Amino acid sequence: MKIIVAVKRVVDYNVKVRVKGDGTGVDIASVKMSMNPFDEIAVEEAVRLKEKGVATEVIVVSAGVAQCQETLRTAMAIGADRGILVETDAELQPLAVAKLLKALVDKEQPGLIILGKQAIDDDANQTGQMLAALADLPQATFASKVEVSGDGVNVTREVDGGLETLSLSTPAVITTDLRLNEPRYVTLPNIMKAKKKPLVIFKPEDLDVDVTPRLKTLKVAEPAGRKAGVKVPDVATLVDKLRNEAKVI
Ligand code: AMP
Repeated sequence: MKIIVAVKRVVDYNVKVRVKGDGTGVDIASVKMSMNPFDEIAVEEAVRLKEKGVATEVIVVSAGVAQCQETLRTAMAIGADRGILVETDAELQPLAVAKLLKALVDKEQPGLIILGKQAIDDDANQTGQMLAALADLPQATFASKVEVSGDGVNVTREVDGGLETLSLSTPAVITTDLRLNEPRYVTLPNIMKAKKKPLVIFKPEDLDVDVTPRLKTLKVAEPAGRKAGVKVPDVATLVDKLRNEAKVI
């Protein structure tokens, strides 16, 4: 069984982004970029399935600028076998990415497609669901456990107040939650090996996909600053402030 994993290049989670002066977006020029953390978990899960002998090949796919090749190389250093970049400088929204992935799913015929539950830059949480709809495949989102058995897959999801286990037939789309696994550290020898793994580049036109944005961002603004706290001298003052100022008791 082949597995396709979608990996997005995003602003590193340690970077505090700044909103551009004109409010059209955030400034990502010269900030550190990394693989979306949920996608690292997705790659790790696919590689573990290959190590268990369940998967035969792990293909990582990224859509975006030429530098996404670095993200694909990192995924291959974790253990993916080959990479596909759909290269474009255009702004990509989840629907466009889902359409590109659908075209690659048609080409590669994987048994599983694993995505992160959300990209930490747009926080959309849409691409996996849209892909499942476009490709007419079963989906299990927010996976915290994945078990492939026969021609199906059982996925455990964390839901309010407990765990839910779904049984899906394959091919299927899965999106990863934080607790699915802990991705391994990439080692230098594996980084070197990854440089030699195959990586092919397509343009959206090669896949016959129109990536024109369908949504327009009207405005991006910093969150309102929080007022500074005050120190109170004793419990009586605290209770008084909670009752009369904050009006919470
Ligand atoms: P989103 O719906 O934007 O929150 O993204 C959910 C998941 O879709 C991510 O965790 C990735 O696995 C995948 N994804 C989104 N955008 C891209 C992209 N440009 N290239 C590859 N995968 C992507």
